[in-house]
Amino acid sequence: MFKSFLLSIALVIGLQWAALGQSNKKALVGGTLIDGFGSTPIKNSVILIEGEKIIAVGNADNTPVPEGVEVISTEGMSILPGLWDMHVHTMLSGHADYPYWDKVYPPLLKDVIMPSSALQLLMAGVTSARDLGGPLEESISVRNAINKGEIPGATLYVSGPFIQHAPYPGTEDFRWGVDGVEDGRKKIRKLAKAGVDVIKLIDQDKMTLEEVNAIVDEAHKNNLKVVAHSHRPDEIRRGLLAGADCFEHTGLSSAPRYPDDIMEMIKERTADMSQGPLFWTPTVEVLYNYEYMRDNPEFIDEDSWHRGLPDSVIVDIRQSIAHSDRLPYFQLTPSRRPTLETKVKQLLDAGVVLMVGTDSGIPMKFHSQSTWNELDVWVNEFGIDPMYAIRAATYWPSLWMGVADEVGTITPGKYADIIAVKGDVLRYISLLQDVDMVIKHGKRYK
Ligand SMILES: [Zn+2]
Repeated sequence: MFKSFLLSIALVIGLQWAALGQSNKKALVGGTLIDGFGSTPIKNSVILIEGEKIIAVGNADNTPVPEGVEVISTEGMSILPGLWDMHVHTMLSGHADYPYWDKVYPPLLKDVIMPSSALQLLMAGVTSARDLGGPLEESISVRNAINKGEIPGATLYVSGPFIQHAPYPGTEDFRWGVDGVEDGRKKIRKLAKAGVDVIKLIDQDKMTLEEVNAIVDEAHKNNLKVVAHSHRPDEIRRGLLAGADCFEHTGLSSAPRYPDDIMEMIKERTADMSQGPLFWTPTVEVLYNYEYMRDNPEFIDEDSWHRGLPDSVIVDIRQSIAHSDRLPYFQLTPSRRPTLETKVKQLLDAGVVLMVGTDSGIPMKFHSQSTWNELDVWVNEFGIDPMYAIRAATYWPSLWMGVADEVGTITPGKYADIIAVKGDVLRYISLLQDVDMVIKHGKRYK
């Protein structure tokens, strides 16, 4: 009974997409193209797509549109590479009660929750996402189903379970504890063998430095980068000492700024060009916007986050956040908000490359609404250059993930992962809250 229910959901979603009859050859004509490289946008742009790939990029004068292709007008629009979100949790859907969610929803993760998260991201213009912390088999299965075109969704780069000192009770499916150096190496090899794309390290301040070193070393031997949670000061110090490849969150609770010794370590690391840039995903939006969301809950009544979820799950999530002022998760948030801009500026001043990520899926953070909000806070609250912000959600993530020759910019030979939105996003970044067109691997979804 339950299985056939799941099957019918999958069928409905599948049919919906099959019904969109589309030509193999498309031309996007007329809009202003921000290609992801950071140079001056191309006016009256022409992008030719054949199959899954971009075959030509130019303007109306130098790139004629051949006969017989499907012409899609982008007049009046900004055109960008599909966005990346470098920190999502597809196993979560905004429900506020983690222990309850972890007890009730595991049977639905693979067939309902994670596919719906990936679909919501895609329809929000997020064509690629780094999915951190999830049950192993489910993470791989959903990623592969999307890659094979069996279900629609953002391309996922998955970590599988968090690697940490010890799982919290009831979270053993998606949090693997490490007991000693050899155990750490063994668990990384197991993840590598299963085919994960990245390793997610958390609570590394509770491990020995030897364990952290072994985990990072074993990951690198298996061509996997390590993403380090960096909330507590010693998480950052350990991560830097061990050579982690990307740091998450701004951290330090309500401490006003990063301590000097950490900034010295960061500057030493960014000065060492041989290691490439130091990357950081600050995930500020959820903290910055919490009080606004608490006091202006209309976003909950917006239905973009229902996509792919059964009514019963929607009702359940809605009830859990009905009293958003009472959520334990956010009680400290108001005191953290004023510190976020300072910390982000410290990182920028030290030469860190920031990437856009959101923690979407955590309480009240819907996959359909998170990514554009992060860009909005960077640009409109922190004064970060919009082109920098867009590249932090396109070019840099693709480079970090090792797929810059396939996606991340709008360039001939790459996959056609392209979004468009009416208006000038370099002037009004929040236009990205409602993208008008989403194309992934040459297929138009919106
Ligand atoms: Zn997270």
